[in-house]
Amino acid sequence: MVYSARFSVQTQGNDDMLDITGQVEQALLQSGLLNGIATVFVVGSTAAVTTIEYEPGLQQDMARVMERIAPRDEFYAHEARWKDDNGHSHIRASILGPSLTVPFVNGQLVIGTWQQIVLVDFDTRPRTRTVHVQIIGE
Ligand code: ZN
Repeated sequence: MVYSARFSVQTQGNDDMLDITGQVEQALLQSGLLNGIATVFVVGSTAAVTTIEYEPGLQQDMARVMERIAPRDEFYAHEARWKDDNGHSHIRASILGPSLTVPFVNGQLVIGTWQQIVLVDFDTRPRTRTVHVQIIGE
């Protein structure tokens, strides 16, 4: 069967990283499903979903490395075209990707102890983000 859930989170933008593991586990619990896969998807083209060890050092590292890959002050045709300031946000979000699929077995996500599911908001202002959790299983 397929079970759909969604939740919203408030971010600060500018590489803000939020641990959303608990919300995904809650959706899985509510589904009543025991074995299958859960797809976690953030709506919007300037945020991403991935896994990481959620701790302050890696939060800083992610922001610093992304600044090297897609610098804020680089020229972006997107900004010239739309007169906005978030070309780097779109590129960073596309590189990480908007979704993640996590298997679950016996009602438990098979993530590691030091592996959290995180949402990273690369936009240049605070945003409210909607995350969909689509669960397929039995
Ligand atoms: Zn834009």
